[in-house]
Parts: sequence; C-alpha cells; structure tokens
Amino acid sequence: MANDFDVIVIGAGPAGYHSAIRSSQLGLNTAIVEKWLDSSGAAAYGGTCLNVGCIPSKTLLEASHKFVEARDEFGHIGIKLSKLSADIPAMMKRKDRVVSDLTAGVSSLLKTNKVEQYEGIAKVLGNGEVSIAMHNQEKAKLTAENIIIATGSVPIDIKPCPLTENLIVDSTGALEFDSVPKKIGVIGSGIIGLELGSVWSRLGSEVVLLEALEELLPVCDSQVSKEAAKEFKKQGMDIRLGARVTGSHIKRGKVEISYSRGDEDQREIFDKVIVAVGRRPYTNDLISPEAGVSLDERGFIAVNEYCMTDAPGVYAVGDVVRGPMLAHKGMEEGIMVAERIAGKLPQVDYDLVPSVVYTHPEIAWVGKNEEDLKAAGENYSVGVFPMRASGRAMANNDTSGIIKVIADKVTDRLLGVHIIAPHASEMIAEAVIAMEFKASAEDLALTMFAHPTLSEGLHEAALAVSGHAIHVANRKK
Ligand code: FAD
Ligand code: AMP
Repeated sequence: MANDFDVIVIGAGPAGYHSAIRSSQLGLNTAIVEKWLDSSGAAAYGGTCLNVGCIPSKTLLEASHKFVEARDEFGHIGIKLSKLSADIPAMMKRKDRVVSDLTAGVSSLLKTNKVEQYEGIAKVLGNGEVSIAMHNQEKAKLTAENIIIATGSVPIDIKPCPLTENLIVDSTGALEFDSVPKKIGVIGSGIIGLELGSVWSRLGSEVVLLEALEELLPVCDSQVSKEAAKEFKKQGMDIRLGARVTGSHIKRGKVEISYSRGDEDQREIFDKVIVAVGRRPYTNDLISPEAGVSLDERGFIAVNEYCMTDAPGVYAVGDVVRGPMLAHKGMEEGIMVAERIAGKLPQVDYDLVPSVVYTHPEIAWVGKNEEDLKAAGENYSVGVFPMRASGRAMANNDTSGIIKVIADKVTDRLLGVHIIAPHASEMIAEAVIAMEFKASAEDLALTMFAHPTLSEGLHEAALAVSGHAIHVANRKK
C-alpha cells in the first residue's frame, strides 16, 4: 500500500521546519507534526527557538541594552535625557508580539510550501508508522517512507532546586517576569545563564551567578573568557565560580539557596532564582521499542554524521541529537537530511559551527581555540587586535573586547577566530565564510575591509598573525 507521505517531520522548531520546507521544495510530499500550545492554548510553530529561546531572549537583551545605553552612555555622547524608566510590561508585550509574528510566519511558510500541518503529539511506531494524538482529540495514524525526528530539548532541572511557581524558574520563566526583581540568583553561568543574568542586571536587579565550575565559559578561548569576566564584573554581575548549589527553601515569599564553595557551606536569600544548568534532549514517550531507534548513553537519539538513526528511513536532527544545542546547527542538519532523502549528497561541517553569547560585548567564535591546539600539540600563530584601537569602536563610544585570529604556523590556514566585541555575532560570519573556503590568515589580510568598521579589527588581527598589523604592536614571535 502507498504511504501517506514521503516525509513526516516531528517537531516544528528550527531543525524540523527547515527540514519540512526543504523536503517540500524538493518535491517530496511532506507533513509536519507539532505539539506546542501557546499561553492562549493555540498551536504555535517555531519550537524553543521562537517561543522561549533565541528570539524572546534576544528581544529582551536588545531592549535592556538600549536602556543601559540611554541611562549610562548617552550623556557621554552629548544626548541628555531628563527622565528614564524601563516599562517592563510594555517590554514584555513587545517581546510577545515579536514571538507571535514569527511563529505565525513559520506556520504560513509551511502552508505556502504545501507542508501538511498536524497539531498534536506524535509517536514513532516502527515500519514507517507515526501515531498522532491530535489536540482536537482525534487520533491519526500516518505512514511515510522517511521520518525526521526534530523534537528538540527541554531545560534540565536539578533536585536541590525544584521549580516553584514564580520564585524558582527556568529560562522560560525568566523571560516572563512582570517587574524587576530586587535580587536574582542564577544557577549556572553557561550561555543561557549569562544572557538572562545580563537582561535583569541591566534592568536593575542585583544578579548573583552561582557556577559549579572553577572557570567562566570554559568552552571559550581562555583569553576571551578572561576578557568576558572583566566586562561582566564591570557591569556589576557577581559571578561566583566554584559555587555548587546544594539546596533551596522558600521562606516568606523568597528563596534561600544553599551552596558549597571550597570547604565552606553558604546561604543566600533571593527574590527570584533562575535555574540555567543546561538542557536535555526531549524524547518522552516518542519512540516505541519496535521502531528500532536507539538512544546514546546521554539520552540523545543516536545518529551518524548524516543524522541517520539505527532504523532505516528514520532520521533525527537538532537538539535531540549530539553536537551543540544551537538553532543554526539544527537548521543545517534539517536541510542536509531533506536533500539526502531527495538524492543529493550534502554534508554538515561540524568543525565550523559558530557559537555566540549575546551578552555585551558579544562573544563569538568558530574553529579551534588556543587551549584545543596546545592540547593537540599543534603549531600555530596568533594575531590579536584590541577593539580600543578601532576608530569605529571609538566613534561608537564602545571599545570593549578583542579579536583573535589563530592560524597554522606552517600553512597559515585559519584554525580559529575568537571575538569578544560589540556585534561579534555579525562579524563571526566573515570568519566562518573564510574558513569554509579554507582561507589562510594572509587571504584575510589581503582582503579589503570598508573603513571605518568594526570588521577592520578582524583584518588587523589577520595582519597581526604575520606581524604586520598597522594599528597595534604585534605579538612577539
Ligand atoms: P526545538 O526548538 O526544541 O523544537 C522542537 C519542537 O518539537 C518543539 O516545538 C516541540 O513542541 C516539538 N515536539 C517535541 N516532541 C513532540 C512530539 N512528540 N510530537 C510533536 N511535536 C513535538 N540557539 C541559538 O542558536 N542561538 C541563540 O541565541 C539561542 N538562544 C537561546 C536562548 C534560550 C533562553 C534557550 C532556552 C535556547 C536558546 N538557543 C539558542 C537554543 C535553541 O533554542 C535550540 O538549539 C533550538 O531551538 C533547537 O531546535 P530544534 O528544532 O532541535 O528543537
Ligand atoms: P550550559 O550547559 O552551558 O547551559 O551551562 C550550565 C552550567 O550550569 C554549567 O556551567 C554547569 O557547570 C552549571 N551547573 C550545573 N549544576 C550546577 C549546580 N548545582 N550549581 C551551580 N552550577 C551548576
């Protein structure tokens, strides 16, 4: 008997909806199943990224940054303001509007691309069968030659600090406070903890980040993470490293957190606590044993480099599989799988996934850092440009950060680029393109960059690799 669809995608987050749209563009008869309901009970597309992740967090980061600029920086550049206040309900309303415009946009893109939409909870049964418990109470059973699982991830909760309505919240709750809490404890100083801590610190909260590890942002190049620690300290964020949270008590509408630091046990009272200790793949009641899809030891769906699971015709992409939990990584995997189903042969270059922390200054990197290279015993050269030497950064009244280029000592091929600077999220794309085309530091150095731009810092850092930077002293070889 013929299948109902060529492709069924489960989950309409960035990984799933990219996969579904590309499948349909390639002439495959495609369906997508999504279970998300918004606060009004309506179906919502776009997954974590659009509803409670990338987009709402960036909306609040931008709004709170503008507030800080107006409060602390406008005076320096000759703009006087007499009265300034943050209207949190208005900020939240705008954030919700950005989210609903985008989620509606994804739904209409799916429609335009003739992807059949099912709203409900899907389960992979095996033999190409997917059952759906639809939100309208109907049940459906569909078949497809190919199934793409894109069910994403959810926040991890920790036993010592169970979520408690409006007091101990996860990242989703932290995007919804209706006023500025006086004192916030953030557990975990990973990317999400730092971004959410920044939002509320800028809006006036006293923010304490409790981080179990001894190092801030250990995934970053350590020169960059040291710069970051300095900047966050200047901004007033109290980051306590080596602080492991061990318990919590609700006391008269506040939260008392216990944590150990070295040999000492400490306690501190907060108005709100944000638990930001990472995310886990979401596979609850998703796969029946007959489907033959296995999980790895950390609970991710096990896949090869082409996102194929152990079951023929079943693929998995995005946060539910290994690799960095980033929207763009899932999008590219989703597109790769759609194209491979259609007979094309693309690959995802997992060595060139850019990472960004949207704090101020932003932190972005791609490729290997100095610590990776040292550990691997590689020979490399480094060029660093401090943003305080950039004319454009001075004109912008924002000279924080550095740009660092690392190249192979012998071949000069770019191995990594690490940026902490305003607009690092945009500048890193230049490095990704260069590295994708296997450029050398000299290729970047021979490229003309418009003046005055922050990107000139990347040019100068590339020049500095061979000791030819114009605006700074070059590192001794
Ligand atoms: P998701 O976006 O989680 O989508 C999975 C979808 O599957 C969901 O809509 C879910 O409802 C649906 N689903 C699950 N199970 C079923 C089922 N059985 N049936 C039907 N539907 C199902 N990443 C970045 O790259 N940049 C950022 O700036 C960034 N900021 C972030 C900020 C925050 C606060 C958070 C929490 C995350 C952030 N991320 C960011 C991470 C990013 O959101 C994720 O990497 C991304 O959403 C993963 O995409 P996905 O499609 O794999 O999964
Ligand atoms: P990420 O996985 O990048 O989102 O970061 C989560 C951070 O939370 C990591 O740096 C962890 O070390 C940290 N973390 C996890 N559990 C605890 C805990 N009980 N107390 C403090 N920090 C924690």
